[in-house]
Amino acid sequence: MDSHQTDAQCAWRCIQSAHRILLVTHVGPDGDAIGSMLGLAWLLWPQGKELALGCEDPVPRSYAWLPGSEQVVRSVDGSYDLVISLDCSDVYRMGQVYGPNVVTTPLLNIDHHITNTGFGSINWVDPSSAATSQMILMLADTVGLAITESVAVCLLNGLVTDTRSFRTSNVNSHVLRAALRLIEAGASLHEITSRALGRRSMASVRLWGQAIDQCHLEDSILWTQVTSAMRRRWSLDANGSTGLANFLSGVREAKVVVVFTERDDGTVDVGMRAACGHDVAGVAVQLGGGGHPQAAGCTLKGDLGEVQARVLSALRCSLTGQEEESV
Ligand code: AMP
Ligand code: MN
Ligand code: MN
Repeated sequence: MDSHQTDAQCAWRCIQSAHRILLVTHVGPDGDAIGSMLGLAWLLWPQGKELALGCEDPVPRSYAWLPGSEQVVRSVDGSYDLVISLDCSDVYRMGQVYGPNVVTTPLLNIDHHITNTGFGSINWVDPSSAATSQMILMLADTVGLAITESVAVCLLNGLVTDTRSFRTSNVNSHVLRAALRLIEAGASLHEITSRALGRRSMASVRLWGQAIDQCHLEDSILWTQVTSAMRRRWSLDANGSTGLANFLSGVREAKVVVVFTERDDGTVDVGMRAACGHDVAGVAVQLGGGGHPQAAGCTLKGDLGEVQARVLSALRCSLTGQEEESV
């Protein structure tokens, strides 16, 4: 048995000893957040566990078709034997769902971010996994749980979205084998890919158009912004800029891409991407966020202009350091 399987068994023992369990995923959920939480839920419901599924923000439209998504609630009360955080790199990513009613409850942290702060009472953090959903499949396989079609669809959704359809640098034979298992268990790769990555509204294309038109390329840093006014103009919520940073990361001249999204609560979401050989996780952590070397982010308080100046200066400094290290 390898160390990953030992970790999975340890997590499973912790789950087995609990009956009422709160599953929590991160604010501004992506496909892995929702997919890993629902996939785990579909593994635990047949075990007779009583589950609550919490996420501070609503399930985005692209993932609302996943089985069980209607069970996700935005706030929870009551008491639980165990809280399981999924795809959260720090405690704040759980948002308000991690409220006063559960702060003293044992917390199992299941995540794949290299920047994970180890905030759980038990931490199963595996940066070699391309998605938290891949870890949930590993859990099921290690302890011999059946992969039903619902489990497979949710977990493949996580794997597809976090790897941008198997295009990221962490895709290896283990990831492809995991995907194959899920496809064999009944998940449709075509359906997931087209629903999660291939479909968007005309309004979001218009918003992208405006953001792309206004982008800047300075010192190999490509950046742009999505203001509240732009989102209001196209009647879009905070998800309107989803995917834009990935799209811009294809620009050959850019080493780093940043998309600043102004939110209505006075904060700015900073989504960053790095070309291979560069890293944005370091700057994200420095600014209180987290992520992966090639894709990271943070949320900062303040005026859009101030946040931009702060982030761009941290990135310039980090890029200079990275170039010096590589000589
Ligand atoms: P995104 O740009 O939203 O697709 O996020 C890219 C990566 O950065 C994901 O792994 C996120 O989990 C992480 N990330 C984004 N925003 C934050 C944040 N505010 N705090 C911590 N991690 C973040
Ligand atoms: Mn995520
Ligand atoms: Mn993830």
